[in-house]
Amino acid sequence: MAFDYSGKVVGITGAASKVGIGFAIAKKFLESGAKVFICDLNGEALEGAKEELASYGEVLAYALDVSDEQAVEDMFAKAAKAWGKIDIFINNAGIYPQCMVCDMTVAQWETVMNVNLKSVFLCAREAYRYMKEQGGVIINAASYAAVIASAGSGAYAASKSAVYSLTKTLAAELAPYGIRVNGFIPGVIKTGMTQGVVEQKGDELVGAIALHRLGAPVDVANAVLFLASEEASYLTGTFIEVSGGKLCVQNPDFPWKKAKEEK
Ligand code: NAD
Repeated sequence: MAFDYSGKVVGITGAASKVGIGFAIAKKFLESGAKVFICDLNGEALEGAKEELASYGEVLAYALDVSDEQAVEDMFAKAAKAWGKIDIFINNAGIYPQCMVCDMTVAQWETVMNVNLKSVFLCAREAYRYMKEQGGVIINAASYAAVIASAGSGAYAASKSAVYSLTKTLAAELAPYGIRVNGFIPGVIKTGMTQGVVEQKGDELVGAIALHRLGAPVDVANAVLFLASEEASYLTGTFIEVSGGKLCVQNPDFPWKKAKEEK
C-alpha cells in the first residue's frame, strides 16, 4: 500500500543508525512526501543519517537525550517553528542492556527507565501540546519483551511493558483531542541493537519465528506508516506485532521440520 504524507510533519526519536528502525521509518515517511525531524543521542551518526535522508526530502535533526525534559521541549519548539505544526510523532529511541536484574546498579536501572519510558511520557506530553488543536498521531515502540519477558534483560522488559500500558492510557486520555496513540511490537529485527544476540543464537531465534526469518527495519516501518495513516483512523490504544509470528504457537519450528521431511 502506498501512502501519501504530503504536507505532514513527522518527528522520530532514535533515528541515527542507518541500519536501525528509526532511520527506516524516517526514510519511508520522506519517500511518502512528509517533512521529517529526527533526533538521537549520537550526534555524529545523526549528521550522517540527516545527510543521507536529505536526498529523499526535507529533514531537520537534533542531537539530544530523549530523557532530557528541556531538550525535548526545545526540539518540538524548533520543529514547530520551522514547519508550523507537528502531525505525527514516533517514540522509537530505546536501549537494550543485557544484565540480570539483581546484578544491576540503581543507576543502570534508572537509565533504562529514563530512555525507554520517561522519554515516551515527555515526548507524548509535548506532542499533545502541539496536536491538541488539530489532532495527530503518536506511535510508541514497545517490544516482544512487553508480551513475554526475557531472562537477562528484565529492566528492558519492564520498561517496555510500561510503554505498552502508557500507550493505552494515552490513547484514552487524548482521544477527545483527535489524537490517536498506538504502538508497534517488533520481534527480532536485524539492527545494531540485536546484532550481538543474533550472532550468539541466530538459529535458535529463527526457530521461534513462524516465518523462519528475522525481520528487517522496513518491515516495522511499513506497519508504522499504516498506523499513522487515515486507513487506521479507527485504531487507537492498540499494537501491531511485527514479529513474523514469533511464538504464535509453542512450537513454530515443528511445521518446518515436518515440511522438510515431506520433501
Ligand atoms: P537501535 O539501537 O538500532 O536504534 C536505537 C537508537 O536510539 C540509536 O540510534 C540510539 O543512539 C538511540 N538512542 C539511545 N539512547 C538514546 C537517548 N537517550 N536519546 C536519544 N536517542 C537515543 O535500535 P532498533 O533495533 O532500531 O530499535 C528501535 C526501537 O525498537 C527501540 O525502542 C527498541 O527497543 C525497539 N525494539 C527493537 C527490536 C529489534 O529486534 N531490533 C525488538 C523489540 C523492540
